[in-house]
Amino acid sequence: MGVRTIGKRRAVFLDRDGVLNRAVVREGKPYPPANIRELEVAPGVDAGCRALRDAGYLLIGITNQPDVARGVTEKKVVEEINQYLSKRLSIDSFRVCYHDNTDDCECRKPKPGLILVAAAEKDIDLGASFMVGDRWKDIEAGRRAGCRTVFIDNHYSESNESEPTFTAGSFLEAVEVILMNARLGKMTTKIFADGADREGILALYRQPYIKGFTTNPTLMRKAGITDYEAFARSILKEVPDRPFSFEVFADEMSEMERQAMIISQWGANVYVKIPITNTRGESTKDVIRNLSAKGLKLNITAMMTLQQVRDILPCFNGSPSSYVSIFAGRIADTGCDPLGIMKEAVALLRPNPKLELIWASPRELLNIFHAEEIGCHIITVTHDILKKLELVGKNLDEYSLDTVRMFYEDGKKSGFTL
Ligand SMILES: [Mg+2]
Repeated sequence: MGVRTIGKRRAVFLDRDGVLNRAVVREGKPYPPANIRELEVAPGVDAGCRALRDAGYLLIGITNQPDVARGVTEKKVVEEINQYLSKRLSIDSFRVCYHDNTDDCECRKPKPGLILVAAAEKDIDLGASFMVGDRWKDIEAGRRAGCRTVFIDNHYSESNESEPTFTAGSFLEAVEVILMNARLGKMTTKIFADGADREGILALYRQPYIKGFTTNPTLMRKAGITDYEAFARSILKEVPDRPFSFEVFADEMSEMERQAMIISQWGANVYVKIPITNTRGESTKDVIRNLSAKGLKLNITAMMTLQQVRDILPCFNGSPSSYVSIFAGRIADTGCDPLGIMKEAVALLRPNPKLELIWASPRELLNIFHAEEIGCHIITVTHDILKKLELVGKNLDEYSLDTVRMFYEDGKKSGFTL
């Protein structure tokens, strides 16, 4: 299911029993506390809720209480527990489904009804929100509502019929995962996706934290694209409102200018990539100056030295905005730490607010945080590295175990014997 955006606020939807308070477990199955005397707030929940509130999340309890319909519990017992938790944990509101399976209501999880109603009432952006639960029905409800989901694994003996976005071993771990992801969304460094595969671009366009796109002739060749303009125009139809960089492929200066003029006509969000030199190593300064004077948005690419930055700085007189793209990853490949160069480049660009620095060709996910640290405006990240974003904040014990299992499975599949 795609991300549904209803409003502007972010929320963490919290299941109650087994998440906020300890569930009463009988034969591997969790049950709600029978009354307020049995209620025990789970470890880390006070601190975790505080951290989420400090980060600006609304906290909304989302709970099925079918025992009321079943006559096992009175509604006022449920309400008393909810009131206590609301007060203690500063929960904004509790949404409760009192129905049973046979009632066929819209609110009983795994249906997303409780979440959708809360989102509409409180102006919540579901794509920027999370559902935290300890059973598959919580995860499925969150998923159907368009939220990212965190499953707290309390090791019940029941099947898990919905795939969560993240799994955590405790409430505090779930909070850690959420805050790390929020940090990505809040980063001042903009993440651009670098690639040429159409499906990948469209999937990333659905992610609010991808702020723009770049591609280059090498990536397009790899993706098997033969008609440059047809590819560009069709993708720009689907991505009309975030910066998209397309590169000229000529080697003569006059031909570069001609191609740049054509490319710039493809869309208002198009930036034209001009390599810093041609293949004979001749500077494209004059091309940059001429195109900027015509008001084109440019992305100067394949740069690696501060002298190259200094050389082109005076060329941007007419562009409404442009990018200076330094290939930090390729610099790193030579054994040289790019951090110092990138820091200095940020400083060189500072007097011209129309120019933004791109950290290009990153080699690992960690580079996103490096770029953020030095105030680099943009980082272009390949689709492959972007896939690792789901690992941000992952618990290292869990990741270690995944790795051990991978080795084991691959050894088994290969049929190795000794
Ligand atoms: Mg539960």
